[in-house]
Amino acid sequence: MADRPRLTTSAGAPVADNQNSKTVGPRGPVLMEDYQLIEKLAHQNRERIPERVVHAKGWGAYGTLRVTQDISRYTRAAVFQKGTQTEMLARFSTVAGEQGAADAERDVRGFALKFYTSEGNWDLVGNNTPVFFVADPYKFPDFIHTQKRHPRTNLRSATAMWDFWSLCPESLHQVTILMSDRGIPTDPSRMNGYGSHTFSLWNDKGERFWVKFHFKTQQGHAHFTNDEASQVIAKSRESYQEALYGMIEEGRGPKWTMYIQVMPEGEEDKLGHNPFDLTKVWPHGDYPLIEVGEMELNRNPENYFAEIEQSAFNPSNVVPGIGFSPDKMLQGRLFSYPDAHRYRIGTHYDMLEVNKPKCPVAHYHRDGTMPFGLKTNPDAYYEPNSFDGPVEDPSVAEPPHRYAGDVDRYDFRGTSDHYTQPAALFALFDEGERNRLYANIAAAMQGVPQEIVDRQLAHFDKVHADYGNGVRAALKKAEGDNASLSTGHAAAE
Ligand code: NDP
Repeated sequence: MADRPRLTTSAGAPVADNQNSKTVGPRGPVLMEDYQLIEKLAHQNRERIPERVVHAKGWGAYGTLRVTQDISRYTRAAVFQKGTQTEMLARFSTVAGEQGAADAERDVRGFALKFYTSEGNWDLVGNNTPVFFVADPYKFPDFIHTQKRHPRTNLRSATAMWDFWSLCPESLHQVTILMSDRGIPTDPSRMNGYGSHTFSLWNDKGERFWVKFHFKTQQGHAHFTNDEASQVIAKSRESYQEALYGMIEEGRGPKWTMYIQVMPEGEEDKLGHNPFDLTKVWPHGDYPLIEVGEMELNRNPENYFAEIEQSAFNPSNVVPGIGFSPDKMLQGRLFSYPDAHRYRIGTHYDMLEVNKPKCPVAHYHRDGTMPFGLKTNPDAYYEPNSFDGPVEDPSVAEPPHRYAGDVDRYDFRGTSDHYTQPAALFALFDEGERNRLYANIAAAMQGVPQEIVDRQLAHFDKVHADYGNGVRAALKKAEGDNASLSTGHAAAE
């Protein structure tokens, strides 16, 4: 006891006995006045916060971004000045599975980064793929419903997934990536990260550039086949947590090289497609990668719940020199993410240690849940005021945007080419990759009604005749394998 801290209640009162509840006689019952027991049980009931509706299963660590190149011609952001080192946090995740889901499942991975810059937190909440399934936030809740459990069966539904995808051909690019080898990275260090959306950078002269962010793994890509992943999951559902935690504990923290693609404002029409369409990339040939620096993860969190589960990433967290774009999906996420955190964690979620900026914070938001450490001048509780409260700084104003047009509900996906970019990707696959792509799709289509399968096959045909035919052959093979499996089973009986 001598040099150990004294156990207390949450109100600080010392606890004399933490082993035995207070009872009438040695056999009970317990007393209502055993407030220490009640506090302990009540706290246990409140140990969980609502898990994220998407990206519930995650793994994270702290690290550093080092900017090694001069990109000041594009941005005035302090974080991007050559030689700057910025502390950061990364959280990787699967999208669809709940918190207890296995890590090595076929899914898109979240690649969320929080940079604690000297001018506020900049969060880049990306994925391990440069594109997404849909281009309009109006469709996002429907898409996610297809990835989650069916209301009646409470099972994931291949029918729902392929029904939606086949009716939304803009998903074809992302579906092809998901079903390719890159659909199951072996661990978070062996995959790229992408900001995916188009963002913007602006410099001291008030010039704006549209930008895409890329983080390329220095560990090299490594992936599991479906069979390998099944074997991994049979042994451990936590293979990513084990890998990421382990490599950082052993001093082998993973690294990524950061790049940007840059398009000067005004060049939007040169690309040949909407540069703000999240289902498409900017070809490297047109917009080459420009190196920025290196990101390294080097410190594990001390408390997973406090630092990873309660970490709150917002695409709306930008800093002077970094801005948004008209990308509809980005605009939707600017609302959804902070809204999710206010619901999941509480009003002042960004006052939690992991979310707190490392620069001074001064605002007039008052009261609400958890306003820890909100030090305000008691007389300056409104604005404008005459009592030395914080004031705006016009020097950090973003240059004005030049948006104009008629207000309507525009259907750009209806007029968009959904096939050329998946075809460019398909052209990169060697024979082995193509065969695994066909087999992965056939496996994922088991039990899906023929009408839906046919609708999706027609999309694959439009990418490349080999794509559609390859999946047809793989479906036939899977059918044969299933038939012989059930015959074998009957014979065994
Ligand atoms: P490039 O040949 O210049 O680039 C191809 C890109 O594809 C590389 O970034 C490579 O990543 C990546 N890649 C290779 N295999 C896969 C895979 N199985 N899943 C996902 N990405 C993969 O061509 P373009 O820029 O003209 O793009 C051609 C196609 O490549 C695009 O339609 C898109 O599908 C894909 N792609 C393009 C990206 C871009 O920003 N332009 C980014 C990622 C993919 P790595 O260098 O890490 O091996």
